[in-house]
Amino acid sequence: MICSVTDNKLSIEKSDAGRRGLWCKNPLRAKAKIPANLRRKSPPRLPELSEFDVVRHFTRLSRLNFSVDTHFYPLGSCTMKYNPRFNEEAAALQGFAALHPLAHDTCAQGTLELLHDLSARLCELCGLDAITLQPAAGAHSEFTGLLLAKAYFEAKGETRTEIVVPDSAHGTNPATASMMGFTTVNLASKPDGRLDVEELKKHIGPKTAVLMMTVPNTLGIFETNIEEICRVAHEAGALVYMDGANLNALIGLVKPGELGIDMMHLNFHKTFSTPHGGGGPGAGAIVCRKHLAPFLPVPLVKKAGGGYVSDFGDGRSIGKVKAFFGNTGVLVKAYAYMLAHSAAEFGEIAACSIINANYVAALLKDLYPSYAREYCMHECVLTPGADLTAKGLKTLDVAKGLLDRGFHAPTIYFPLIVHEAIMIEPTETESKETLDEFVAAMRDVHASGVADPQSLKDAPRTLPVKRLDEVLAARQPNLRW
Ligand SMILES: *Cc1c(COP(=O)(O)O)cnc(C)c1O
Repeated sequence: MICSVTDNKLSIEKSDAGRRGLWCKNPLRAKAKIPANLRRKSPPRLPELSEFDVVRHFTRLSRLNFSVDTHFYPLGSCTMKYNPRFNEEAAALQGFAALHPLAHDTCAQGTLELLHDLSARLCELCGLDAITLQPAAGAHSEFTGLLLAKAYFEAKGETRTEIVVPDSAHGTNPATASMMGFTTVNLASKPDGRLDVEELKKHIGPKTAVLMMTVPNTLGIFETNIEEICRVAHEAGALVYMDGANLNALIGLVKPGELGIDMMHLNFHKTFSTPHGGGGPGAGAIVCRKHLAPFLPVPLVKKAGGGYVSDFGDGRSIGKVKAFFGNTGVLVKAYAYMLAHSAAEFGEIAACSIINANYVAALLKDLYPSYAREYCMHECVLTPGADLTAKGLKTLDVAKGLLDRGFHAPTIYFPLIVHEAIMIEPTETESKETLDEFVAAMRDVHASGVADPQSLKDAPRTLPVKRLDEVLAARQPNLRW
């Protein structure tokens, strides 16, 4: 009973008064020296189960998990790819993992050398001059980048209060701008999903501190005018920030610095071999040009006297954005990943991510029209076709239908500027067979929606949890049993 697949009971519902695991009978526990006034008046309401009941309960739950190790995860804007296990082993090496954060530089030469070499390699890959590895994530890097911009303009004696953000931006871009006290100026994209240079010219000026743009943008489309865009921004005296979360589409093919940007961020948990969405911290970075380098967070690492030392700069730094050198375990994984790939191999990663997204879009375009007029980059944005919408079916129904067919849902209702968006990022690590199975599932969802719309509205039907009232769940979350 207890480990049946259809067993959906909570452990508290399986509770049987008086059942215990063996260790609970340990006589030492009863003698715990907790003062009487601090002890509970009534016993806690905990499930009473045998040890075996507990093991089976949690093992069964763990097998209900969706994970990148068991299922294809087509979440757009998230890069849920395979990250080599080998890199986890590198990060777990005791010399890195057990190093005390306060260890003196002389005792941390290996880690300092790694950070120094990783920094140099990432600058080279991005075509930029300097880098901080301190930020803990992409959004944290954006925050760091805008701090750099503030310090840069302050040093020049300029007051600039606005950040220009295209409407195709990731939500973290305007959020970062307002968190930093800037005013966000929203730019409407052209119908083809690209930034409108004429609009940009109207909205950029002496008040603009930074133009923040995602490349490729959140529609999975490359900004073909990027050099002109950067020129227009620079003529207005503004800096160009590139949100580099989508670097999987460009890595090894394009050096973003050569496009004209001033700084960009990296997401190590998207591009550089740290699992995204569970199992530990991520990391970010800001890579920038020389004119922003003096303001980077400290410490950095520099070579000196035949070794490596912490570099606290010349006093112009914005300070720290994270303790010590950031999440160094993640950086070790990134380094192992970088050592394993040549520049040409990185180019292949980008090419495969682009081919995979276009493959899926092409095989689905008759049923799920694609937003991109031509090709997309590493992710495609689709919508449910007229056959489905005519039956009152929506993107949410397609996503739930996929769950019944063994696939994690893609990102849905993002980017916001596409009505009923279904955003698919296959990533470079998925095989043709997996993509074919996914396409077959999407086509099957379509067929069942057309034949029997109610069946799709009732999906998922094979999972322990059926369709949720998401509005109620958001407004009145029930956080207790
Ligand atoms: C993921 C993402 C971010 C935010 O990165 P986090 O590491 O999750 O903070 C920003 N911009 C884009 C385009 C992203 O895809």
